[in-house]
Amino acid sequence: MIQDLSLDSTHLWRLSDVNDFISQRKEKLEDFKKNIRKRQTATEPIDIPDGLFMKCDQCGGAIYEKSLEANHSICPYCDFHFRMGAEKRLYLTVDHGSFVEIDKEIRSRNPLNMPDYENKIGIGIKLTKMNEAFLSGTATIVGIEVAIGILDSNFMMGSMGSAVGEKVTRLIEHATKKKLPLIIFSASGGARMQEGILSLMQMAKTSAALHYFDQKRLLYISVLTNPTTGGVAASFASLGDINIAEKSSLIGFAGARVIKQTIRQELPIGFQTDQFQLDHGQVDLVVHRKDMRKTLYRLLVLHQGKKVSHE
Ligand SMILES: [Zn+2]
Repeated sequence: MIQDLSLDSTHLWRLSDVNDFISQRKEKLEDFKKNIRKRQTATEPIDIPDGLFMKCDQCGGAIYEKSLEANHSICPYCDFHFRMGAEKRLYLTVDHGSFVEIDKEIRSRNPLNMPDYENKIGIGIKLTKMNEAFLSGTATIVGIEVAIGILDSNFMMGSMGSAVGEKVTRLIEHATKKKLPLIIFSASGGARMQEGILSLMQMAKTSAALHYFDQKRLLYISVLTNPTTGGVAASFASLGDINIAEKSSLIGFAGARVIKQTIRQELPIGFQTDQFQLDHGQVDLVVHRKDMRKTLYRLLVLHQGKKVSHE
C-alpha cells in the first residue's frame, strides 16, 4: 500500500491518497472482525464468575481459588507461596482456640496531617478487620506457650508506623516479663512514609526492646515472609536468634532497581530471594509453609532442653 502514497512536487502527502488508504484499511479491519474474530463456534461461551480462578504470580497458571485456599495458598503447579493475611497465618501456626490477643485497640493517628492517610487506614481496617497492620498476643504451639506477632501485608503493605512499632515493642516487653519465647512473622514494605521520622524511630524502639529481651536469655524466632523489606527488615525482623525465611520470599532493604542505580553495577541472579539470603548467611533456614508449624515446634522444644516428640 505504501507505494500508492506517492509524493507530489511539494513533497507533501496528497490528501485524497491518504483518505483512500485509510478507508481501505478500515474495510480490511471490518472483514477481519467479521470473519476471523467473531467466527461462530459450535459451543456457547461459558460465563466464569469473577474470583473463581486466579493467576499464579510466578508460573502464570490458572488456579481454582478454592483449591488454593485448601493448599495453604501455595500454587499447585510451581510451589509459589502466595501472600497470606495475619488471621490465616495465625490459624495455620498456633493451637486452635489458644490465641489471646493483646493491645487490640492501638491504632494510628495522623501526626503529620498527611492527606489521604486516614482513608488508607480505613481501607486497611476494612480489608483485614484489624485496627493496625500487626496482630499480637499469646498462644500455644503444640502446648508450648509463646508470644506471637504477625504483620499483615494487606494493611498498608504491613508498613511500620508508630502504632505498629508500639505494638511490636509491647509484645516484646510482654514476652520479656512473662519469660516467653517470641515469634514474629514479618511481611512489610518497611517504614510507613505517612509518619516520616516517627516511623523510623520505631526501628530503634523495637531493637532496644529486643536488647532487653536478649539480656534475659530468651528465644526469639523471626520468620521473614514475602516481602520483608525496608525498615522492618533493617530492625526487628533481622534480629532473631534464629531467622527463618519462608519459601518464595523477597527479603532485602531497598528495591533491586534502586540499588542498581546507586552502585551502578549488575546485581547477581536471584538477588534478594530466600535462597540467596540463605546462601549469604542472612537467614538460617528456608522453610516451606507446610512445614512451618512443625519447624517452630521443634525449635521451641530444642530450646526448652526437652526431647522432640514425633507427633
Ligand atoms: Zn505457579
